[in-house]
Amino acid sequence: MCGIIAYKGEKKASEILFEGLKNLEYRGYDSAGMITLENKNFDLRKDKGKVDEVNRKLNFLGMNGNFGMAHTRWSTHGVPSKINCHPHLSNDGNIAVVHNGIIENYQILRTELEREGYYFVSGTDSEVIPILVEKFMKEYNFKDSVFKTLKMLEGTFAVIFINKFSNELIASRKSISLIFGIGDKEFFLSSNFNSFIKYTKKVFFLEDEDVI
Ligand code: GLU
Repeated sequence: MCGIIAYKGEKKASEILFEGLKNLEYRGYDSAGMITLENKNFDLRKDKGKVDEVNRKLNFLGMNGNFGMAHTRWSTHGVPSKINCHPHLSNDGNIAVVHNGIIENYQILRTELEREGYYFVSGTDSEVIPILVEKFMKEYNFKDSVFKTLKMLEGTFAVIFINKFSNELIASRKSISLIFGIGDKEFFLSSNFNSFIKYTKKVFFLEDEDVI
């Protein structure tokens, strides 16, 4: 198993996310990645290895912004490698996604998207998710595009989407834990509330197919 965590508020996101990743280490993983958003720019850093090793190499704590998310990966599709780590981006770079779980129908979705001209850089099942959102956003807003994407996914997921331009986050889950915490002018999402319980006790356990 592996984990995800997201933060939006007034604190430096990378510090909360890094601490959260450390708290999720017990779940087992082979890679770690983080993305923060500041002034409509993503800073994305990821690689295989332990959280501390990746941090030594890429300096997670040097990432600025009050909004971001992070992931520890337990590879199911695609070897542990920098390119296969999460977060994954849409082709236009506007949508970032972290995903825990398995998208069982990813091959069908990927083949169809490739036929439509989209390209894939990773060997993961997860990369179809941001690219589907990008495709739907040609016609719909971010929220509706995420809903349409979620309807197409078969399998299991805890998934978080960030839209670079609208500064919005959407999350959902199916058969994989995802917990939402509300603090003072800030909120948290995590696979385990231990990764943010010191900041808030207002905690909501998302149910299957909830979207927030
Ligand atoms: N199936 C995805 C992958 O292989 C997510 C694995 C996970 O849950 O960390 O990248």
